[in-house]
Amino acid sequence: ALDVVAIDGPAGTGKSTVAGQLAERVGAHYLDTGAMYRAATLAVLRAGAAPDDVDAVATTVEGAEIVLEIGSGGDTVVYLNGEDVSREIRTAEVTAAVSAISANPVVRTKLVDLQRAHAEDAFLVVEGRDIGTVVFPNAVLKIYLTATPEARADRRHRQNLAAGRPSDLAEVLASVNRRDHLDSTRAMSPLRPAEDAVHVDTSDLTLNQVLDRLTGLVGE
Ligand code: C5P
Repeated sequence: ALDVVAIDGPAGTGKSTVAGQLAERVGAHYLDTGAMYRAATLAVLRAGAAPDDVDAVATTVEGAEIVLEIGSGGDTVVYLNGEDVSREIRTAEVTAAVSAISANPVVRTKLVDLQRAHAEDAFLVVEGRDIGTVVFPNAVLKIYLTATPEARADRRHRQNLAAGRPSDLAEVLASVNRRDHLDSTRAMSPLRPAEDAVHVDTSDLTLNQVLDRLTGLVGE
């Protein structure tokens, strides 16, 4: 396996934008692991299974083909059973159910295997919740991005509006807090910083300031 840069942290810290652009700057491929959990969630919703029905979720996701087409920078294309679902995985319905599906051990085991397979022949910037702690504990660099809940909600709200999705700031804040609570309290691979992660608070930094800081760390 070639090198991995791990970027973890809660929702709305700017992780996706930062990870994608960092990958472009350092000549790596960008792997968005949240997109995999979102595709698994869409499979469950389409199958009509209840997100908290552990066995039904496991069976549905085991039978789903999830493929990520990754590149340097640019948008990740996500396929579910051969269909491009890159837009549909960003809806509020998927976002509301994703924490329940990602707490399922069968789902995590399958998706972690897929994530590791991507690293076999590429230099990767990998973004998620458990990348530095579980998926790639030997990553050359581990970043843990944080921001205040208000800054995180504000970012997500603007992203929604920019993408033409309906958005209400108070609802976004409640949803971000709920998801972070579920993600950090689940039994398997909860969201938490790796012991050797570099913490970066992005609340008062511009995208370029964050990127300069991280590019410097990759170069060390
Ligand atoms: O990063 P994003 O908001 O797209 O992630 C969606 C959800 O996927 C997270 O809230 C979390 O429940 C789950 N996830 C995870 N482990 C990862 C990446 C995402 O559990 N490595």
